[in-house]
Amino acid sequence: MTAKTQDAKAQDLPAAAPVHSTPLLLRHLPYFIVAAIAVFAAATMSFDGYVLNILMQATTFAVAVFGLTVVLGLCGQINLAQAAFFGLGAYVVGLGTTDYQINFWICLIGGSLVALLAGALLGMSTLKLGGHYLAMVTISFQQILTLVMINAIWLTHGPDGISKIGRPALFQSQQSFLALCVAVLALVGYLVWHLPDTRIGRAMRAVRDNELAAGVAGIDIFRTKVLAFALSALLGGLGGGLFAGGFSYVSPDQFSFAESIVFLTMALLGGVGSPIGAVIGTGLLILIPEWLRFLKSIPGLYLAIYGLFVILIVRFMPDGIWGFVQDMLTRWCTKRPAAMTSPALQLVPAKTGGDMVLEVTGLSKHFGGLKAVDKVDIAVRRGGVHALIGPNGSGKTTTLNMLSGLYKVTSGKIMLDGTDVTDMPPHQRTAAGLGRTFQNIRLFRSMTALENVVIGAERPGNTLTGNGGQDALTERALSALTFVGLGPRANELVSSFSYGHQRLIEIARALAGNPTLLLLDEPAAGLNSTEKLELHDLLKRIAAQGLTILIIDHDMTLVREAAQHITVLNFGKRIADGESLAVLQHPDVISAYLGTE
Ligand code: ADP
Ligand code: MG
Repeated sequence: MTAKTQDAKAQDLPAAAPVHSTPLLLRHLPYFIVAAIAVFAAATMSFDGYVLNILMQATTFAVAVFGLTVVLGLCGQINLAQAAFFGLGAYVVGLGTTDYQINFWICLIGGSLVALLAGALLGMSTLKLGGHYLAMVTISFQQILTLVMINAIWLTHGPDGISKIGRPALFQSQQSFLALCVAVLALVGYLVWHLPDTRIGRAMRAVRDNELAAGVAGIDIFRTKVLAFALSALLGGLGGGLFAGGFSYVSPDQFSFAESIVFLTMALLGGVGSPIGAVIGTGLLILIPEWLRFLKSIPGLYLAIYGLFVILIVRFMPDGIWGFVQDMLTRWCTKRPAAMTSPALQLVPAKTGGDMVLEVTGLSKHFGGLKAVDKVDIAVRRGGVHALIGPNGSGKTTTLNMLSGLYKVTSGKIMLDGTDVTDMPPHQRTAAGLGRTFQNIRLFRSMTALENVVIGAERPGNTLTGNGGQDALTERALSALTFVGLGPRANELVSSFSYGHQRLIEIARALAGNPTLLLLDEPAAGLNSTEKLELHDLLKRIAAQGLTILIIDHDMTLVREAAQHITVLNFGKRIADGESLAVLQHPDVISAYLGTE
């Protein structure tokens, strides 16, 4: 199917209701009704003390496990200190309400904020370093906190712990306090459930799926990770504060490293992708030991069965129990069709600077002794298509990586629309007007086509949707998908698209951000001949709207037809530059391509 017929098909669809017709809260009324029933049941049913304790533990733990849903599930960052954040919240409430006679609510908020602050600081100091360091630092933090709880007796009461912890006036009985915890659980669960569909939640998923592409799409990777980590700590602290109130007693052994592993296992067991998984995992991991209680006379056997159970679930349900259930559900239920229409895509590049959109001077990149790019100058004229060509290994992709900030330049200067972007990180260059695609496609794999493109539309500096709400973003993204011919499949996961169509989604993602300059790295690579024709057509339609394009391609037909200006690299050096026809007839260019002298 060509792009044109798909366009026509998209326009034939009946005009559907706007994307969000009913207010969010109203559409989720059933959730709140169920939550209200749960709170009512917790407040009024008669439990014996044993059941009450189990429920109290499960609800407060689940709040902390929600934190792992955010940091690990959404953002892909490990946190091996959730018990420490839980303990921070618990100790602030414990000490505040007893030793210092402070109001419970103030202590609860204070404890959550202390955890948030600790999480933010910990994240800021390590998240730049990457995965293993984060794991190590969180473990160390966990150990230090345990040591403080045990040894700073003047502050923490030491190994004896804190007893007679207060509860708020309205919730003096343990059962009414449980009802409060269930209400908090329901509210936090609701927020965590909807976080993935917010701008910041999408940014977290993008960082998890493909960090490089996230940065190039305009997302501040570091800030996003720190935020996820701080949020996770906040929920840990909140859960801990409630735990302290619920049991009226805390001691250091409840917040050890082993407990952090328990929290992590709860999240992984239930499914780290959703708060529902967190609740399932928490419930199970608290109940299984109770069910196996009859084996406790033989301690070894009990632990062995318990461990085996966990290993089996994690082995056969890698996405946790809820992930497994969800997989089954989506397999049986048919996908909802994307019956949405959108206005035609407008590309209105900002026209702030002069004639030249991009001015690169003396650009070099050396890898050890290899001069991958060596003192290259490129000037890209506004509104034109500029091709960068050269044999394999001549430094084209390396040049693009320096332009988009993935590689630091060895030397040289990059001016984008009058701004010196040479030392900016990728997301700032994107904000300054850069859009790009990758030679080896980089999409956010766990998201739908539409979600991928919405992230493009969210480009900071996109004047068309810059301050727009969710509807404006969705509409913009849908326009971009329709422009590349994929509008009707907007709600499918990117993994269900052919290679060629994934390319188109990547281009749509860049277009949705309305960039000033679009960088395309071998868009025709890996496409069949029909797809190549579609791509030619698409490039013509993009260029017709006046968007400036810098394209790398081997397809000489495409380059000759589309580009007005060509720069040729060979062994990292610029060997020719100028108007297309003249460059293609240049003897050095012919010999570089044909390999003759
Ligand atoms: P092109 O895109 O023109 O085919 P590249 O820019 O990918 O070429 O590569 C240019 C040269 O730089 C090649 O010799 C390649 O091996 C080398 N190169 C590219 N990236 C790196 C890297 N990260 N580390 C070391 N060498 C690299
Ligand atoms: Mg390349």
